[in-house]
Amino acid sequence: MAESIYSNGTKVWFEDKERGWIPGEVVSSSVQGDGSVEIAFITERQKEITLKSTLKDITNNTSKLPPLSNPSGYEQVEDLTHLPHLNEPSILDVIHNRYAERKLYTYSGIVLVAVNPFTDVPIYGQDIIQTYAGHKREELGPHLFTIAEEAYRALQRDTKNQTIIVSGESGAGKTESAKYIMRYMASVKSNTVRETTSSTSVEHQVLATNPILEAFGNAKTSRNDNSSRFGKYIQILFDDQSSIVGARIRTYLLERSRISFQQRSERNYHIFYQLCEGASPEERANFGLDSDATGYRYLSSSSIKIDNVNDAANFTATRQALAIVGIDEEKQLAIFRLLAGLLHLGNVEINHRRDAKDAIIDEKNDAALQKAMELLGIDAAEFAKCTTKRLIDARGEKFSSARTMDQSIGVRDGVAKFIYSCIFDWLVLRINASLSSNDAIQREKSFIAVLDIYGFEHFRTNSFEQFCINYANEKLQQQFISHVFKLEQAEYALEAIDWTTIDFSDNQPCIDLIEGKLGILALLDEESRLATGTDESLIDKLNSQLKTPEHKSIFKDHLHGNEAFTVAHYAGDVSYNIDGFLEKNRGTVPEEHKDLLTSSSNDFLREVIDVGINIGIDTHHGPVSKSKAVGPSKAVSGRKPTQCSVFKSSLLTLTEALSVTDIHYIRCIKPNESKRAWEFNSPLVLSQLRACGVVETVRITSAGYPTRWTYEEFAARSILLSFLHTAH
Ligand code: ATP
Ligand code: MG
Repeated sequence: MAESIYSNGTKVWFEDKERGWIPGEVVSSSVQGDGSVEIAFITERQKEITLKSTLKDITNNTSKLPPLSNPSGYEQVEDLTHLPHLNEPSILDVIHNRYAERKLYTYSGIVLVAVNPFTDVPIYGQDIIQTYAGHKREELGPHLFTIAEEAYRALQRDTKNQTIIVSGESGAGKTESAKYIMRYMASVKSNTVRETTSSTSVEHQVLATNPILEAFGNAKTSRNDNSSRFGKYIQILFDDQSSIVGARIRTYLLERSRISFQQRSERNYHIFYQLCEGASPEERANFGLDSDATGYRYLSSSSIKIDNVNDAANFTATRQALAIVGIDEEKQLAIFRLLAGLLHLGNVEINHRRDAKDAIIDEKNDAALQKAMELLGIDAAEFAKCTTKRLIDARGEKFSSARTMDQSIGVRDGVAKFIYSCIFDWLVLRINASLSSNDAIQREKSFIAVLDIYGFEHFRTNSFEQFCINYANEKLQQQFISHVFKLEQAEYALEAIDWTTIDFSDNQPCIDLIEGKLGILALLDEESRLATGTDESLIDKLNSQLKTPEHKSIFKDHLHGNEAFTVAHYAGDVSYNIDGFLEKNRGTVPEEHKDLLTSSSNDFLREVIDVGINIGIDTHHGPVSKSKAVGPSKAVSGRKPTQCSVFKSSLLTLTEALSVTDIHYIRCIKPNESKRAWEFNSPLVLSQLRACGVVETVRITSAGYPTRWTYEEFAARSILLSFLHTAH
């Protein structure tokens, strides 16, 4: 019986360096004297391979024999869980075949897999939205709109809150997908409710948040010309008629380091280039702005322009969007004034004395300093003084000590990063104030949320940012696993299968390592609060306290000496370079600078700083649910919140919010590294399918289901599965 699985002519998959997997076929199989089976294969490359296995391993699906490919008819199946043989190569093959036929979407049970076309495809128009409206999953093929419609249906049917989690690596298409879903929500009802949507309608306001957040939070990176440098969770609020009444946004961990430094071929946030290109002559004169962005240190990386992007036109679009959410012309100018101030601030020259390491700023002659401080409303001499000198308060006695040039530059850039992140926080708060006004909250019955959050990151050098991002992904993965597992458990119970024996990868140990009582975050915070703490003392601490039997397989240090530590994440091992961890985690500016900023003569600067400071102290950007009070709460025991503690608590709030909603998953896949239309690089896709849990789910789903299942049994099971999944 078992050997008949690999009978003559059976099609299989062989691993291949170039293509990932190639087809092969059984040419002979025979049972040996010792009871084992010997099977000969021929691959598509005309190579002959003979392998041996025991009958038991074959029956239990634990043999090392090549995985089986599926019978014909399944090449482009719409749902991967319908495959008789659920294995990596088959999954990859189906997604590839569909992509080759310009089908971007495939279901994998509850997950929608979306492959980036890297070119415009006419499948998102208003006509298509109306086609999907009111139709069930089975009636039309897999699409973003099927998921959007499912969420919308569920909302109407059970008034239960819904979340659509969009994940994937940089450039995979998360933000584009999230925007199409928002557009679906904004217009699915417009035909019946309103004939025309005026530009101030709440739907328009919700959509206007996209260009605003992209201008201030997206930048060109080496991987994506429009890369989101923050995580976004947006709740679209509906009333009891399922009409949109508002929205509520939370953002996560804006990348601050980009303000003062970008890698070659990357850019700063779009808004700076938009401002330089698009400001009117009068604004330019007011802000002392040069249209040539290369004159600014903060913008002078190698790429100032992006192909096919018109920064000046986008500036107009950003301003229109700001106006739509109620940020008037005057406030807009106040924002741009600060941004121009930051550009000048970056140009402040900091040198060191010829005879010493002490930093100096030529405060009288430095035009950039004068202009920056004029725009920011701060006294130039004061700023120069506390940037080059540190005020030390030793038991009530105050004296100052010189900073080195590098330290002063660090302070200058730190101030710029701080102001920028305060502006970003202010924008989010302001958008929330107009989109989730009291009136909207009164009428809010339920919401559909979209989470567009950075996927797992693993670069050649990884730093604090990657650490936080991957931590977030561990949390989401945990939720995903428990979600899928719950569905499976229900199914196993129905079929009286002992599910406790089924092994699935639980990432709790990794989460414990990171957020446990004496985990990485706790140690990082402890070290960040010590005045004497350095990156070196941090790594020593990590190494001495985390090399315990409990964390043995998750925390690794030996490979990298004292520069990095390695965490075994669910999606692979990542080594984090310790450089800059403490400074990034402290993420704040010296007290003297905070005082300068809060007593600025620029009213708007004081306003944004106030928001930024209080948001740091608050658990995070406003409430996620109606019941929670708006507004900042005070710090516990007067401790300055660190970046990671703010992030940790905002993730906690997020996972709590998610856990009481119905979740829909969209996994975006980047099919090639060169952004080329319709090019499919199999190994690249496979590694993403693994990292985003598609393969993992299939493995959980297929655990305990050896390939000896007949087609009929499988068909019955698939129906049950899809029943369970849609019933949930
Ligand atoms: P990041 O994590 O860097 O923010 P992302 O996953 O949000 O990346 P997007 O910005 O959504 O990636 O997509 C990158 C680019 O891919 C887009 O600018 C667009 O050119 C293309 N793209 C993505 N999705 C689609 C789509 N559905 N149709 C056409 N082009 C798309
Ligand atoms: Mg994005």
